[in-house]
Amino acid sequence: MPDLKEATATADAAWQNDVRQGVRHVRDLERLPLSPAERAAAQAAAANHKVRAPKAYLDLIDWNDPADPIRAQVIPSPGELKQAEGELDDPIADHAFSPVPRLTHRHADRVLLFPTYQCAVYCRFCFRKESLTSIARGYTREALEPALAYISAHPEIREVILTGGDPLSLPDKALAEIAGRIEAIAHVRLLRIHTRVPVALPSRITPGLVAALQGRLMVTVVTHFNHAREITDATEAACRTLRLAGFVLLNQSVLLKGVNDSVEVLEELCRELMYRLGVKPYYLHHGDLARGMAHRRTTIAEGQALVEALRARLSGICNPVYVLDLPEGGGKVPIGPCHVEVRDGQRWRLRGLDGKARDYAEVVGEGEGAAVSRSDASGAS
Ligand SMILES: *Cc1c(COP(=O)(O)O)cnc(C)c1O
Ligand code: SF4
Repeated sequence: MPDLKEATATADAAWQNDVRQGVRHVRDLERLPLSPAERAAAQAAAANHKVRAPKAYLDLIDWNDPADPIRAQVIPSPGELKQAEGELDDPIADHAFSPVPRLTHRHADRVLLFPTYQCAVYCRFCFRKESLTSIARGYTREALEPALAYISAHPEIREVILTGGDPLSLPDKALAEIAGRIEAIAHVRLLRIHTRVPVALPSRITPGLVAALQGRLMVTVVTHFNHAREITDATEAACRTLRLAGFVLLNQSVLLKGVNDSVEVLEELCRELMYRLGVKPYYLHHGDLARGMAHRRTTIAEGQALVEALRARLSGICNPVYVLDLPEGGGKVPIGPCHVEVRDGQRWRLRGLDGKARDYAEVVGEGEGAAVSRSDASGAS
């Protein structure tokens, strides 16, 4: 039997190979069967947002299909070079709410922490592409000190969300160091990791990576699958490893025209996430105002029609919440269809999942006075 060290070395060699054989620089695209328009776009687009994808992800592309949904996510298209009026460099105002470098604090109980601005894959639709390009810094212990001091000094912070960049693009040693530092802050309860690695580089989910994250804190891994074609034996194995480690798995998707803007595609994605991977669909994001993404954005009305159909077809646990991250730091607000048609005092008219409207009259007692406390009154759950 190989010992742990040997097993770790084998596992690391597998993902390193996946990275090496993928696209790491624009020039690596020469090996791929791109159209002349894609080739030209890739050269120009790479100046704004790097081109990178591990072999495992590129292998999912059907090169005979110009509209392949995997291809659309990682290969620059000519549409990306057009900047539409109203698009923003910092679509969700990360910078306006950053009291110290590498940290965003917009909601009292949770912060975003940016240990690195690099990723295992560069997604064309990324809403942080401007930070990734302009900051382009990796992890160092010193760079995180001000952010960690800030978290220590703010006892209202309960969740630390590692995002970036992709935190799981870091080596095990760096992850263990970061997790250890956060764990040592007594008021922090939960460590959340937002990552594309289980999708784009599933071989990176090794026993060593899991061990680096395990400890006192509840760990939640928020994956980023956008299409059922990204769900494979390899991504299934990666998610199983994370689940067996005791981590809670959630997924956020971005609604992208030409990739997943159909009921059938979203339905299959959400079912397979939950039933095959054990990953709960959490958010479906309306496309952010990231530059050069007008060709991938749907209208909000189209998004609402899609999620209304999903709501009727999928179980509660398979349904994500459709949200829009408001500019100027307004936060993520649910923008799903409204089922309330009319309200007149305590009389409501509500549209059912079958599309038919029904009347509903509220029946609420007078209350029992001051003897009943607020928490008793809202008892059953
Ligand atoms: C998205 C986001 C969070 C996490 O929000 P949840 O709704 O808890 O997933 C926290 N802080 C910022 C600044 C965010 O953009
Ligand atoms: S992995 Fe995340 S941060 Fe990196 S390019 Fe993709 S969406 Fe952006």
